[in-house]
Amino acid sequence: MKIISIKTELLLQKRYKMYNEGTIIALSSPPGSGAIAIIRLSGEEAISKTDIFFKSKSGKKLKQSYGYSISYGDLVEGDEVIDEVVVCVYKAPHSYTGENIIEISCHGSNYIQQRIISLFTNSGVRLANPGEFTLRAYLNNKKDLSQAEAVSDLIASESKEAHRIAMEQMRGGYSDEIEVLREKLIHFKSLIELELDFSEEDVEFADRSDLKSLLNELESKLSSLIESFSYGNVIKEGVTVTIAGKPNAGKSSLLNAIVNEDKAIVSDIPGTTRDAIEDVTTINGIKFRFIDTAGIRETSDKIESIGVEKAKSKIGTSRILIYLFDRSDITEKELIKEVKSYERDDLQIYLVENKIDVLKYSDTDSYKENIKPLINQNNITFHRISALNIDLVSELKEMISKNLNLSSQSNIIISNSRHLEALNNSLKAIDSVKSGLKDGLSGDLLSIDLNDAIINMSIITGKIDIDQDILGSIFSKFCI
Ligand code: GDP
Repeated sequence: MKIISIKTELLLQKRYKMYNEGTIIALSSPPGSGAIAIIRLSGEEAISKTDIFFKSKSGKKLKQSYGYSISYGDLVEGDEVIDEVVVCVYKAPHSYTGENIIEISCHGSNYIQQRIISLFTNSGVRLANPGEFTLRAYLNNKKDLSQAEAVSDLIASESKEAHRIAMEQMRGGYSDEIEVLREKLIHFKSLIELELDFSEEDVEFADRSDLKSLLNELESKLSSLIESFSYGNVIKEGVTVTIAGKPNAGKSSLLNAIVNEDKAIVSDIPGTTRDAIEDVTTINGIKFRFIDTAGIRETSDKIESIGVEKAKSKIGTSRILIYLFDRSDITEKELIKEVKSYERDDLQIYLVENKIDVLKYSDTDSYKENIKPLINQNNITFHRISALNIDLVSELKEMISKNLNLSSQSNIIISNSRHLEALNNSLKAIDSVKSGLKDGLSGDLLSIDLNDAIINMSIITGKIDIDQDILGSIFSKFCI
């Protein structure tokens, strides 16, 4: 056990040198102008470099300030005052990155932001790479890898549920669960390896029935985490809903009504929407990705036919299809044939009749009767709306969100495909250990599979040396 931790320590030191060089600076608030902007520095020289340009009203230098303190004063270049700013001081190791951190709150003009950043870069501070502050937090053991990744999910969270999942992961709920299981496995592996040292004496330090029940526990925990991915991924990326139908059915009008803005061009000229237009909205805490597509019809127009193909392919990757129609423009037979061609077990279809504001129903609605065979199917429901009537559109939205069959048996949800791969690999290795036990495999062979499971679990939390390219790819997804 000791050997593992020394090795980890050495690897961390190696990585520390590789990435943690220099003091870095970046604009931490969104790019562009605003009332206030925040510029952040991290590294050994963050405080001393800021002391060169910052003249506090109290006359006190930042290096004399306590950590977690703020100072007000001028940021100057020579005799010129660039801005009046507020500076927060964090002293290593009590900061986000574990290093000295300075946060400068300045007025948010682009000009001021750039002037301040240039002041520092001209004095030897370097611009941070994407995600580098969080990378440093990981390298300095402030966060494990899965927690660091969750920071990016948290920044990107657009719905209550995505926020909950990211928050849970960032606060370590998920890492803790993995870590407990990993440590139990390490314990067993070390006992099995100890047996190898005493192989001539035929002793069993690792109780095989305890190991079996641990493997069963692991199998069920890993499976439920793996199962939670389909939920977690939908929550993170959004539930995809394609709006399709013939040209002029009112698809663009519906998209605009759903997202409450004029996203797509509405026109009575058929074929105006030629490309898929997408917008995201949150309904009851869940993120939905609505896609308005080109009207589906036979066409000789090359560009329009590319749009039609694209529409069909969007349906193919969606969880929900709203097939919108105007009964004056499509026969019952045509409608049934069209909708049937999209049927899939994992596709919920909302057959939505639009423009009911201009329709007069007779008591016997023969159109509805004729399409009944279609509606009576499990995953096809029928609705009537007018895209111009916001109340009816809201009812449809509510229905879509309520009927969404989304749930996970696991309290801890995974939403990261890197974790999914590692969990799948761990599960595979656990299965191998299980069958190895059944077949009476020797300890050294069991130990190989146990090790494989442990390594894959470590990959999630970054407790082993993670390839530089992988780290690069994880953190480059952070916003800059
Ligand atoms: P798309 O080609 O399917 O995207 O259809 P559009 O949204 O561009 O609408 C085509 C035409 O139908 C436009 O003139 C819209 O104003 C009109 N329209 C859309 N929905 C309704 C509706 O519910 N009632 C009425 N009366 N007209 C509608």
